[in-house]
Amino acid sequence: MTAPALRLQGVSKNYGTLRAVDRVSFEVRPGQLYALLGLNGAGKTTVLRTVLGMVRPSAGSVTVLGRGLGDRSVRAEVGYLVEAASAYPELTVRENLEVARRLRRLGSPTAVQDAVELFGLREHADRRARVLSQGNLQRLALARAMLHRPSLLVLDEPVNGLDPAGVVEVRTLLERLAREQGTAVLLSSHILGEVARVATRIGVLHRGRLLDEFATAALPDRVRRHLELTTRD
Ligand code: ATP
Repeated sequence: MTAPALRLQGVSKNYGTLRAVDRVSFEVRPGQLYALLGLNGAGKTTVLRTVLGMVRPSAGSVTVLGRGLGDRSVRAEVGYLVEAASAYPELTVRENLEVARRLRRLGSPTAVQDAVELFGLREHADRRARVLSQGNLQRLALARAMLHRPSLLVLDEPVNGLDPAGVVEVRTLLERLAREQGTAVLLSSHILGEVARVATRIGVLHRGRLLDEFATAALPDRVRRHLELTTRD
């Protein structure tokens, strides 16, 4: 079995007397699309921010490809998108990616063209970001997060506010990344119907605790019918 791309062991985070995250442990394997599902305030963002090293856990550990977050090489392995998709509106898709490449001092000049191809943005490459559909804007944001080809991609509510076609588009993209690049994806959402369409595995977070974990395919038939999931979900 391959090593997990991400492993959380007994992670807790206290804010004063509030325990926002309570002894959470789970793994995300290469090529797996793992969703944290929970109501607002369940602790999803805090878990994601802990994984990104933006929040220091009060207890427990996080490892990426077996390495602790203190290891500087881990940064190159992680891509993230934790706010709504945005871009410089007056710059083209290609220019937006080029700015990101330079800001992050990514050496490879082919990184931008590679990302354009990988994310199916070729026909939009010379269009300004402000004329893009929501779905294409999301593609651009994902392409930017993946410019350095990280092993782990962390996405906070990536399909929040997208129309059904946009959700399908993001799902198709994430599936491709998982399948073709072996990227491990950790994402969050508060809507079961959304995560069930995108993720292969779901962890239910409630009041900071991971209550349950299951494969999306293991959802009971009547739930699947209710959510109008197709058989490939
Ligand atoms: P949402 O979808 O609303 O972002 P969430 O599941 O991501 O919800 P968190 O944002 O992780 O939940 O918040 C979990 C709990 O921790 C909430 O009660 C929140 O008020 C609290 N919390 C989060 N960040 C802080 C902070 N910096 N200081 C104090 N309390 C915080």
